[in-house]
Amino acid sequence: KLFNEVQELKGNIRVYCRVRPFLPGQDGKLTAVDYIGENGEILISNPSKQGKEGYRMFKFNKVFGTNASQAEVFSDIQPLIRSVLDGFNVCIFAYGQTGSGKTYTMSGPGTSREDWGVNYRALNDLFDISLSRKNAFSYEVGVQMVEIYNEQPNGLVVPDASLHAVKSTSDVLDLMAIGQSNRAVGSTALNERSSRSHSILTVHVRGLDVKNGSTSRGCLHLIDLAGSERVERSEATGDRLKEAQHINKSLSALGDVIFSLAQKNAHVPYRNSKLTQVLQSSLGGQAKTLMFVQINPDVESYSETISTLKFAERVS
Ligand code: ADP
Ligand code: MG
Repeated sequence: KLFNEVQELKGNIRVYCRVRPFLPGQDGKLTAVDYIGENGEILISNPSKQGKEGYRMFKFNKVFGTNASQAEVFSDIQPLIRSVLDGFNVCIFAYGQTGSGKTYTMSGPGTSREDWGVNYRALNDLFDISLSRKNAFSYEVGVQMVEIYNEQPNGLVVPDASLHAVKSTSDVLDLMAIGQSNRAVGSTALNERSSRSHSILTVHVRGLDVKNGSTSRGCLHLIDLAGSERVERSEATGDRLKEAQHINKSLSALGDVIFSLAQKNAHVPYRNSKLTQVLQSSLGGQAKTLMFVQINPDVESYSETISTLKFAERVS
């Protein structure tokens, strides 16, 4: 109930920030994250400026610090997942520079239960809840995996990105493993490339009310976005420059769409990128959007962190 009230107030858009911890090799580095408040405040400090000048405060719906577990992060978004079974469309994005923990949040660092990211936990919940309602509703679940690279959408599992009917979380795990292995690049190249493409896992849910025969359709999109880091014009040439331009274009188009929705503008510019076109029917209207903005803790990342948080501030 409280969640629905919050949703009303926020126009169906929520922004959560997550700070990844220092990695083992980064011991002893200085942090740019000065303070995290209980109510979504985060204070960032600039190493090269003194006094008040050197601080910037941001406020989001929530901030998860470096100690937040995967389970803790997920427990906050469970109501959103449940709403998919009630026929709502939901988009959950992870935004941030490469290395800030987007894939960790969405997929997790491994396939053990504890490691599971939002993707597996969401599917697991969908199956659990649909089982618990099985006397009243019958649900069909299908998943689709699409990667958008240089403004070109590609199906990962099969070339036409067709829908795969699934019955359990392990079906999905198997499917995702196939999807990964079907990608035509080696694992190092895969990592490299995955940071420059948007990967979208879509879960379609069709519900049938057994008593009155009415049906509902809900859709959950789980999106691991391309790295948001700015690329120096002087450093990038050829393909790399083209990639950077495509990423820039699609991330700003996404920002513009969410900003327009938050402002309740009459015109929402969906047509400006493949990403926003693909997600159009699930952005706006009754649909719910959650954005995880991922940041690094170290002072070296200061300027990327500020630009990430500014993007998030604009859409929240
Ligand atoms: P991205 O997808 O944004 O490029 P990754 O998810 O690959 O970033 O994270 C970069 C590294 O940081 C990985 O080694 C990952 O395991 C680690 N990492 C990210 N977030 C966390 C976290 N919350 N706790 C522990 N390690 C993390
Ligand atoms: Mg990643």
